[in-house]
Amino acid sequence: MAITPEIAWAELAAGNERFATGTATHPHADAARLAEVVAGQHPRAAVLGCADSRVPAELVLDQGVGDLFVVRTAGMVVDDVALGSLQFAVEALGVPLVVVLGHESCGAVRAARAVAAGSATVSGPLRAVAAGVAPEALSTPEEDADEAQARGIAARVRAASPLAEAIAEGRLLVVAALYSLSTGEVRRLD
Ligand SMILES: [Zn+2]
Repeated sequence: MAITPEIAWAELAAGNERFATGTATHPHADAARLAEVVAGQHPRAAVLGCADSRVPAELVLDQGVGDLFVVRTAGMVVDDVALGSLQFAVEALGVPLVVVLGHESCGAVRAARAVAAGSATVSGPLRAVAAGVAPEALSTPEEDADEAQARGIAARVRAASPLAEAIAEGRLLVVAALYSLSTGEVRRLD
């Protein structure tokens, strides 16, 4: 039987507590696990995280091989490919939970704010990253920008069809969360 969204969240929260307190167990990383997942994957949750090297999803949530379906882009900015990847996790793999994992001092958010303020420019495909930062993260005070970005992207994910339908049917929970670079703790925002 599939696990509920809240049970999936509780498992990730417990994993983060192990990581942040120096008691990580690095589960599901041995030869037996590799053999177990050859035939297929059954991840407990999907994570939409920032590509920032300081926020590796499996490590900070103390998960292992086959546990998380992870999509990472700069600033958690989503396009159709990223949303389609989450759609696959929900529809084909049946994950009950998507965690939008923002973090403190996100460079993508800072860059987009600088562009919006006219104090910087970006070129090439990086423009799409800056343009994809949530409007709320541009208009709020600096100290609230990273939280606003996680909330704003989570709202975008929730509104995307067919994820919105899965939420309405009670099959999916989308949670915004914020990772602290200094403490290693993940705080649920909603
Ligand atoms: Zn970032």
